[in-house]
Amino acid sequence: MINSQLTPDDLARAVRNVPDFPKPGIQFKDITPVLADPKLFAGSIELLTAGHIPGSLDAVVGIDARGFIFAAAAALRLNAGFVPVRKKGKLPFTSYEESYDLEYGSNTVAIHVDAVKPGSRVLLVDDLLATGGTAAAAAALLKKLGAKIVGINFLIELGFLNGRDRLKAYPVKSLIVY
Ligand code: AMP
Repeated sequence: MINSQLTPDDLARAVRNVPDFPKPGIQFKDITPVLADPKLFAGSIELLTAGHIPGSLDAVVGIDARGFIFAAAAALRLNAGFVPVRKKGKLPFTSYEESYDLEYGSNTVAIHVDAVKPGSRVLLVDDLLATGGTAAAAAALLKKLGAKIVGINFLIELGFLNGRDRLKAYPVKSLIVY
């Protein structure tokens, strides 16, 4: 335990709010200051993986793109493999796809058909929970592969968007809730 004194409030203080990015009316939660500080980065991984015993999971699954950063570090800490859920068209091998609606249009995420074995115990990780569409689609892909999702963990949750309601079938944990 390198940073066991660190709290979610320490992380929250470092998250930068960027107004009107990527479009007017959206307040973007910029986690790059957390990544740039070794104590905060290590502390964020410690908090994200808390309660999971190293060796108890087969994989930590990260969502394109900022989710990769946290999920990959969490996977190393938990002695688990890392599996990417990517945006459509980026994975080279045979993949399953899952689409979900956005305010305007839709998004599609994908996973390799052999990314995890049926019955695997996996932890799903992303940087931020907003409406929950992305995480719900990633969870649907994992279910299609027969994985057991032991938890879905986020650094940040925008609680006012009620994204959690779409993930009711799973234990959801967020370090910082706005
Ligand atoms: P959603 O599917 O609505 O839950 O959106 C979650 C995904 O969009 C995550 O992968 C986030 O990285 C990204 N995202 C959504 N809203 C924000 C925001 N306000 N700041 C930073 N990232 C966001």
